[in-house]
Amino acid sequence: MDIDSFKQDLLAAGATGVSLVNAGNIEIREEFRALCQSNECGMYGTNWSCPPACESLKRAREKMSCYSRALVIQQVSPLEDSFDFEGMMKAQREFTGLMVKAVNLAKTNYNLADFLALGAGACTICAKCTYPDEPCRHPDLMMPSMEAYGIDALSLAKLANLPCGNKSDGQPSVYYMGVIFF
Ligand code: SF4
Repeated sequence: MDIDSFKQDLLAAGATGVSLVNAGNIEIREEFRALCQSNECGMYGTNWSCPPACESLKRAREKMSCYSRALVIQQVSPLEDSFDFEGMMKAQREFTGLMVKAVNLAKTNYNLADFLALGAGACTICAKCTYPDEPCRHPDLMMPSMEAYGIDALSLAKLANLPCGNKSDGQPSVYYMGVIFF
């Protein structure tokens, strides 16, 4: 795969940072997965992409260990202020859209048949997730949450040499990240 070309396509699609890392260097920790259960994000048990619906951390580790490289994709979006919850939700939906584009690009433009894409937090493809009453509407597009796979955004940003925080150039901002293992 032409990684540089894929990176350029992702930047053109709205990513603010893209970085290739060694998949084996991504830190996976039980404590990060355990944070899901503490439900600080309010999404625990509400979405097919999150615990307890998604796979166990043991299975997640097995899946990630099948790949040698990973492309970390970041989108930084400005907020009105640090309490701009609506802005955060809008930015997350936009980031999910970017990750869906990334997956489609990987399949169609780069003939990537075997890969694993993880999104930022709960899946926001549908306005309301069908969990737990009906099967997922888009199992081919749905991405498990990176956090549910035991990956901490801050550690991943450091590894990928991408920025992380709550401000960008002095402007309150939200940083979303996803990853494609291949
Ligand atoms: S695609 Fe829709 S139904 Fe499936 S996990 Fe995402 S929000 Fe839920």
